[in-house]
Amino acid sequence: MDRMPPKARVGRELPPTAGLPLTWSDYLHKPGLSFAEGLTQWPGLPDPIMTCSGTAALVVALKTLHQRHPNRNAVIAPAYNCPLVPLATCLVSGLRAIACDTVAGGSDLDLQQLDSLCDERTLAVIPTHLGGRVADVRAAQAVAERYGAFVIEDAAQALGAFAEEDQTVGLRGDVGFFSLAAGKGLTTYEGGILVSRDPQLRVELAAVARKTLRPDLGWTLRRNLELLGYGLLYTPSGLRLAYGRNLRKHLDAGDEATAVGDVFTLADIPLHSLDALRLRVAANGLFRLPSFLEEGRWRAMRRRGQLAELPGVLVIGDRPGTNGAWPFFMVLMPGKGQRDRALHTLWRSGNGVSKLFAHALPDYPFMAPILAGHDSPGYPNARDLADRLLTVSNTHWLDNATFTLIVQALRSSL
Ligand SMILES: *Cc1c(COP(=O)(O)O)cnc(C)c1O
Repeated sequence: MDRMPPKARVGRELPPTAGLPLTWSDYLHKPGLSFAEGLTQWPGLPDPIMTCSGTAALVVALKTLHQRHPNRNAVIAPAYNCPLVPLATCLVSGLRAIACDTVAGGSDLDLQQLDSLCDERTLAVIPTHLGGRVADVRAAQAVAERYGAFVIEDAAQALGAFAEEDQTVGLRGDVGFFSLAAGKGLTTYEGGILVSRDPQLRVELAAVARKTLRPDLGWTLRRNLELLGYGLLYTPSGLRLAYGRNLRKHLDAGDEATAVGDVFTLADIPLHSLDALRLRVAANGLFRLPSFLEEGRWRAMRRRGQLAELPGVLVIGDRPGTNGAWPFFMVLMPGKGQRDRALHTLWRSGNGVSKLFAHALPDYPFMAPILAGHDSPGYPNARDLADRLLTVSNTHWLDNATFTLIVQALRSSL
């Protein structure tokens, strides 16, 4: 069959997620509200704690909860997930990571398996708001509570997503965290936000954060340069250089995990404080974020329908009453063959089509020592997601004509 890949316009590369571009005034303008004050107003996070990454926020959360329950040592998270979550768990001495299968065709935790993995040694369960979708935190919480375990909401990909009753994600569990990494919407290049609805827990989290995340001049300089680079190159022409070249290099080498940015070691998790200059940039960006996300939502509502018309293709959506963010579409193809054919055509085309994660967690070679030590229940649903999922960017730089070409390419892969 003759399949013409939709080509990005010459010299352009679209990002796989809808990141917020920076402007010079983000550096120059003195924000009326600090970043923390801004977050309290919208999306409504009380006394948020700033960290140097989402992973660092999780480390602080786990240390704090472990202080409360030193005899509990297991942390359970979905098996289709960012590898940084089990790595962060291992970074806290005494804790071990356990992967739990997801539900069929989604990223929520499989409740039956969750129940079988929980016991009196379970410190925390981590439901994940993957790709801006709103996880069923309440259901995971019901299981965790039976065993006296805490719930940490991983909202790394979901700043600006709202759960039931228009409450921001991150506040139903005991602790929640967000990522400000490049590509996750609002960014400080690397950064994180740690929240809790419980004022006493917030005091404890803040104390652990102060102790764990010290000022570090070297990292501050490095991250500021990186953020400046992002500001300059986060455009379709800049991304060709900053993202597309490497992407194709790794795909040529057959290294999908590196292409997706999934390969980490403990050395990739520095712990330091977030500096004032980047907080200023974030405070200014936050001011634009609600309307930026709202436009993304409208675009997503229109385009979802186009994707969903493809026979056997599913776009992962929100449960009734919830209102997620749409950095990209999580598209479930009918089978692995069709998914791989589609990616073969589209991944290198520069149009923002990608994989979310290269594998289910247990299938990354570097995860083996980290997830070892418990009987593997098998992860059929997480592995099925890894086999059938691809992502289509919801960046504002993706125009209707190119989006239609992507849909046509998906159709011809079926
Ligand atoms: C990115 C991500 C993290 C880690 O956040 P960083 O800011 O990159 O450290 C955790 N969980 C999920 C689901 C993520 O996507």
